[in-house]
Amino acid sequence: MAIKSGVCKLCGKHFEYEHKRGRERQFCTYECKKKSDNIKVSAYLKKRYSEDPEFRKKRSKDNSAGVRRRCQQAKSEAMGRIINEIIECETTTEILEILEKNFRMKREVYDPNAR
Ligand SMILES: [Zn+2]
Repeated sequence: MAIKSGVCKLCGKHFEYEHKRGRERQFCTYECKKKSDNIKVSAYLKKRYSEDPEFRKKRSKDNSAGVRRRCQQAKSEAMGRIINEIIECETTTEILEILEKNFRMKREVYDPNAR
């Protein structure tokens, strides 16, 4: 076993480590390696995204499906809350108040700028 030193490929920091076997270390910490991997992956995705129309189509479809799913979930959670509140009501005035209040809530759920 030997003590080796290197310069981190990401942050440029000088580091020393015990070299056991295999390739020499390129990064000072696991965090720097992870960050570098993330940069590589997003560069790869960006490249494919711009060069491969099929890939782009699929990615945007996946994306909008996720957005739709989250929106549906927020909707059904909000609906559940409204129903629970209305069940507790004893007068029409109370129900009207809840509906009035949830008109605002709907804006908050669907329009992030309204928060
Ligand atoms: Zn580093």
